Amino acid sequence: MRHAARDYSHTPMNIYWEMTQACALACRHCRAEALPSAHPDQLSYEDGLAFLRQIPDFGDPMPHLILTGGDPLERQDLYPLIDEAHRLGIETSITPAATPALQKETLAKLKAHGVTGLGLSLDGSSASRHDSIRGVPGTFDRTLAAMRWAQELELPLQVNTLVSEETAPDIPAIYELLKPYTPARWSLFFLISVGRGKVLDPLSPDEGERMMHWAYETAKTAPFIVATTEAPSYRRVALDAMRAEGMTGEQIMRSNSTRGFGIRDGHGVVFVSQSGEICPAGFLPLAAGNIKRDRLVDIYRDSPLFQSLHDPTQFEGRCGYCEYHTLCGGSRARAYEATGDPLASDPFCQYEPKHHA
Ligand code: SF4
Repeated sequence: MRHAARDYSHTPMNIYWEMTQACALACRHCRAEALPSAHPDQLSYEDGLAFLRQIPDFGDPMPHLILTGGDPLERQDLYPLIDEAHRLGIETSITPAATPALQKETLAKLKAHGVTGLGLSLDGSSASRHDSIRGVPGTFDRTLAAMRWAQELELPLQVNTLVSEETAPDIPAIYELLKPYTPARWSLFFLISVGRGKVLDPLSPDEGERMMHWAYETAKTAPFIVATTEAPSYRRVALDAMRAEGMTGEQIMRSNSTRGFGIRDGHGVVFVSQSGEICPAGFLPLAAGNIKRDRLVDIYRDSPLFQSLHDPTQFEGRCGYCEYHTLCGGSRARAYEATGDPLASDPFCQYEPKHHA
């Protein structure tokens, strides 16, 4: 709704580039199954430049680029690649791992090279809780330090928090901990068990629905935006609650809770893997092409996989005939993880649509 000016079947909001799988951490839920050193298939510096130079083909408005990994700080050519993105006019954020390489000077240098956003993961309200998820002692303290540095450097911050059986009871305490750091946005990532994530347990659909209601109520007074990742049915919960509160259409459209409506895996989001594979999302590892031989814009707009993800009437089961499917559409990654079919119904949502097929 807020992003109505952008046609997501034409242009993504966010391009995620997994710059490397190399990472010094060993997080229990790592999607990338990060390695101590780079994979031999990793895109070279020249490949990376060629990829970045394709992004302006999407035209105006240009997608936002998020540099992720593994740990993007592991790439020796990180700054020249950021410089090229900046030269091309691409707004760029980065999600570094909380390792000793992440210092205040690092953040200052990233900002000086044109990075406009920082993403950090915080999965516990105490060192013992967070570090047990992240696999390396000291990451909690480093994450809090990096959050403080981002505040001092006025580098806009997004904090991402895993929601699983293990972390759910701690979510309210994480919220309280975050308040003084004034992030721009807090995103609750509802676990999808891919990669090393299989060692943690997702919430049940009922527990997930309760967590979404808590997120909606919390968002009303939170000093930052509260959002969800891989839980688009939060939009149904938020919209229903706003209507029940008597909000007008105009008020609903202006609400922070409606940000991101309509975006889903492969529709508003595209993921380029460390080897150049073009996928609908990091948690939906189906390659529709490769950046080394295909044009990103062609794959995003015209490949059969992306075309089917752009069109919710092609979804199966409840997500196919649900009255919310344009603004929600379900998590395509979770549907794929559960059934092997990215067009299947999202098993995390128990909503029974009013209009049956
Ligand atoms: S049934 Fe599918 S489209 Fe409808 S609210 Fe649930 S996840 Fe979203």
